[in-house]
Amino acid sequence: MQINFLPILRYDETLYSIAARTRLQNAARDDREACRSLFGPSSNIRIAEFPVNLSRFCEATGGHFGDPREVLLGTTLCGFFERIGGPPWRAAKWRRPVETAGYGLATLSNGNVNTWRGCPYCVESDLSTYGISHWRRAHQLPMAFFCLIHHTPLKLSIAPNNDRHIRFLLPEQTTLTTDYWSVNIASYEGVLVRLSKLASDALFYISDIPDLTSSHAVMLRALGSRGILTTTGKIRNEEFAAEFSQRYSFLKHNADFRESLSPEGLGILARSFRRANSWRRPQHNLLLIDWLFGSWQGYLEHCMWQAVMDCPGLAKAEMNPPCPADDQLIHRRVCLEFMNNRALPLRSEFFLVARTSFKWLLRNDTKWFDLNFPDARCTAAQAHLF
Ligand SMILES: [Zn+2]
Repeated sequence: MQINFLPILRYDETLYSIAARTRLQNAARDDREACRSLFGPSSNIRIAEFPVNLSRFCEATGGHFGDPREVLLGTTLCGFFERIGGPPWRAAKWRRPVETAGYGLATLSNGNVNTWRGCPYCVESDLSTYGISHWRRAHQLPMAFFCLIHHTPLKLSIAPNNDRHIRFLLPEQTTLTTDYWSVNIASYEGVLVRLSKLASDALFYISDIPDLTSSHAVMLRALGSRGILTTTGKIRNEEFAAEFSQRYSFLKHNADFRESLSPEGLGILARSFRRANSWRRPQHNLLLIDWLFGSWQGYLEHCMWQAVMDCPGLAKAEMNPPCPADDQLIHRRVCLEFMNNRALPLRSEFFLVARTSFKWLLRNDTKWFDLNFPDARCTAAQAHLF
């Protein structure tokens, strides 16, 4: 495929989707040839599972979408799994970086080759605005039940057998079905929206993530405060399983949660607290955060507090904060300097180059930061409109 045109990356668009739209704008013998041009040669003939090499992708697209790490964090669920744990590529092959390890296109984009969800209103809105729709990462998350923009239940996108193997499919080329959640949406709408928001907040969070030790400690402390721990700090298995089931058993008929909420799944979850670095299913970690902290933000605050408690030096630094006005001046200057030296400044690059200033501005000077350094994806969309 000779690449002459590249699409503008839409808000929250998946790697699969951007590849599909690139294919549409350029002549190719077929979609498989397009995949080989974008991701490198492979004997795999299934489009949805085509092995991804992002170095090759960035080379083929001339760096239009950023470098491999930026593409990975901006168009796949990799960052989400780094924050929540339990990535589907844990049984890693060859111990190579995710960017070039050859994981499947749908696995990276959707977390699973069978997960294809969409919101009919998003599709309608895309079609009326752009004439073409795109897949969104937030809709494919393990706990995405609702579209948070339209406040409507997500639907499962189905396609005729093998269609996904031989060609790219965008949401409007598939059928969106209802009620696949096997959950009484009306009775649990509030909880389902909250769970969807928690997963979405974890997806879009860009700052440092809590380390495993802090996360383990805050979860144990929260469980202890609910009477789930013995005097020696071990989990009371029966009480733990009963409490967890009572809260989330309404999800157990859903295919994504059936195993997690089975007695065996809950046993594995209880045992995972024996070590700080135990592997957990993403569904388990998300439900634990919801139960114990109520939100992603609540969880982060507890972890931050725990990190301060575990690190007296940090606590001391917190007690003697430097002058805010000076800080503001310094960080704004770093930001402006960075922007002046770049033809197309990107927040993701600024984050890599000046992490401290990026985080400080985002946390303490949000209004100025958004005004002077808007998110690249919004900028791209605006440029496209005019
Ligand atoms: Zn929507």
